[in-house]
Amino acid sequence: MFILESKAQLEKAIAKAMKTRTQVKFISFGVYAVSGSKGNFYTVECKKVGNDKQVSCECLGASKGLVCYHAVSALSLHIGIARQRQEPASR
Ligand SMILES: [Zn+2]
Repeated sequence: MFILESKAQLEKAIAKAMKTRTQVKFISFGVYAVSGSKGNFYTVECKKVGNDKQVSCECLGASKGLVCYHAVSALSLHIGIARQRQEPASR
């Protein structure tokens, strides 16, 4: 599990996700299944805890606190969905 702090921390993982053509499946809001390198799927959870955005992935890297490309792939989908769900703040 790691806490999303900046885009810079994601850049390497984003590059890897683009190279590996990672598949992301929507399971429910904040929960995604992301394809791994061996055709397996990892469950990634994105949630807000207080002001922190927590992202957790089942893979070994994430369990050590690293930003993995699974988490980043799920996150990019999650952010898009979260934006769509937000009500317009004012009119
Ligand atoms: Zn992972």
